[in-house]
Amino acid sequence: MKVLVLNAGSSSIKYQLFDSAEWRVLAHGLIARIGEEAGELKLNWYDAAGAAQSRQETRPIPTHQAGLDLLIADLRERGLLADVTELAAIGHRVVHGGPNFNHPMIVDDAVVAEIESVIPLAPLHNPGHLAGIAVARQLFPSVPSVAVFDTAFHQTMPPTAYRYAIPEFLYTEHRIRRYGFHGTSHHYVAKRAAALLGKPLAKCNLITLHLGNGASASAIRNGQCVDTSMGLTPLEGLVMGTRCGDIDPAVAIYALKNLGLDADGVDQLLNRQSGLLGICGVNDMREIDLRAAAGDAAAELAIGITAHRLKKYIGAYSAELGAVDAIVFTGGIGENAAGIRQRACADLERLGIVLDDTLNAARKPSGERRISTPASAVQVLVIPTNEELEIAQQALAAVSPIE
Ligand code: AMP
Repeated sequence: MKVLVLNAGSSSIKYQLFDSAEWRVLAHGLIARIGEEAGELKLNWYDAAGAAQSRQETRPIPTHQAGLDLLIADLRERGLLADVTELAAIGHRVVHGGPNFNHPMIVDDAVVAEIESVIPLAPLHNPGHLAGIAVARQLFPSVPSVAVFDTAFHQTMPPTAYRYAIPEFLYTEHRIRRYGFHGTSHHYVAKRAAALLGKPLAKCNLITLHLGNGASASAIRNGQCVDTSMGLTPLEGLVMGTRCGDIDPAVAIYALKNLGLDADGVDQLLNRQSGLLGICGVNDMREIDLRAAAGDAAAELAIGITAHRLKKYIGAYSAELGAVDAIVFTGGIGENAAGIRQRACADLERLGIVLDDTLNAARKPSGERRISTPASAVQVLVIPTNEELEIAQQALAAVSPIE
């Protein structure tokens, strides 16, 4: 059987088509600029001989439905999806699942209503996801759509971790609490870490660090998330590409009172103009690394603040967990930026964390690997994330009868 994974935004749909027999990627790509004259359709696929092929077309794509119609026609033409009946499920990435979804859901009208109800908590993401879900249900009524939530993995957090110290009515009446995001990635790398450690996930204590343009940390006890750094929205926690992460909320009040900004202005300031970009003018860690190496003080400070915040979370989560089996780095920065890993783990011998500088700096191999010394009580691992595969597997499991 095959599983199609869709990550639908307001004007784009990222997709991957898997063969579930060996979880091989058959095709992946992007439908972009939906609603514009110059819509884009990008398809990458593997031909019968296994050779990578790609094709790109610019044409008007007025709606999400038109985009998916074109994609299905493309897949059919290349023999990648002869008939829709080959699809066991369509997995949809949904950023915010609200307080009630702790596992993937086969989409029905009630699930759609629940995703709609948390739009105020994820105004940039959930409307696009809902557009993708609506089209998939309309075009393929016989194929179950499964919503896989970024928040679901974090639903095991206790109230001491997910409640804010603010008046209770904000929680009971407005659902203001910490939710956490990147859950699909944290869950995927946690499972892979357990496999590398040779232990069942249910016996693993882990600190997982998803460091990409967005970044978050999770504390995982006995395979279950007990704390995570993102909160009501993906703004809280670590330093990110353009997001500030943890700050004194009085900064927002100051901006409202003294900078002539309204709520949207503060939103822009903290979500889009802060983080690495705000500190040094660039949000791409590769470029920041180069600038810092050339003596740029602002770039050096951006790296320093990022690593300092990471180290604080490693320390806090070590204290929360008591015993830690492994720290896992993933995401574009976590997988590639050896300098950030080195600074975040430096001088943590007392916590049982000893990085092997040679293994950490080595560019090859680039896949799953240990970068701590054999004597390090806490293993430090680099594990490339694969959120699409996790969504595909969770979607198939949701529609498969329990054995
Ligand atoms: P992601 O959101 O997971 O795609 O990660 C994007 C971030 O990873 C950007 O800040 C990139 O600059 C960073 N990144 C990707 N490759 C490297 C690399 N080789 N060295 C340092 N940072 C990298």
